Amino acid sequence: MSGATNPNGWQVAGIPVLVKRSDRRRTVALQVKPGEVTLYAPVRVPDTKLLEILNARRDWVAGHLAQYARMVPAAPPSLTGGQPLPFLGDTLTLCLDPAATRPERRGDTLHLPAAHADAALEAWTRHAAHEPYRALVAGYATQLGAQHRLRRVLVAEAKGRWGSCTASGDIRLHWRLTRAPLPVLHYVALHEAAHLLELNHSPRYWAHVARVMPDWQAHRAWLRTHGHTL
Ligand SMILES: [Zn+2]
Repeated sequence: MSGATNPNGWQVAGIPVLVKRSDRRRTVALQVKPGEVTLYAPVRVPDTKLLEILNARRDWVAGHLAQYARMVPAAPPSLTGGQPLPFLGDTLTLCLDPAATRPERRGDTLHLPAAHADAALEAWTRHAAHEPYRALVAGYATQLGAQHRLRRVLVAEAKGRWGSCTASGDIRLHWRLTRAPLPVLHYVALHEAAHLLELNHSPRYWAHVARVMPDWQAHRAWLRTHGHTL
């Protein structure tokens, strides 16, 4: 965004609060988008007043950021040939191939049918992620002593949350997590596996998570800040 800066270092939930002043504005407005907070203000409103407005609505802003962070955006970025594709800690290179009829990985190159590259990439990723996801979740379930409660591990649909766990022991992880740094994917797998023991976010639940992954908070923070880019 042009003209927006973060001169005072203000943040909400680790997201910098951008300030955009304009002499055409009469009122102060606060806008929250995924991973982005902007204060629109008239030129003459002092910083102290802006900070007062921000502080008064801090919980509201944090609530919206958290809500966005839990949701997976619907529209993936469009693909180009030669583009690097993070996949479970590796980096593949995309090749959009007009002659290809279905996705195929050869070495570190992923060939996709050029005519329907986006759909082919999602289908390939969901298929390729299934076994690694299953092994990852099963490993954490075992570490937690909850392996007997785990039923199925599924690769989640196009929309929804990063992960989920049902009372009957089905765990879903989103296919786009294949593009996250491995420790972040591990955190989500552990997060859902720990729900096999506690189907809530109580202190007891977080104690299970922290027992296995003491630095879990850094990975959750990464998802909140960068999840919309996956
Ligand atoms: Zn949870």
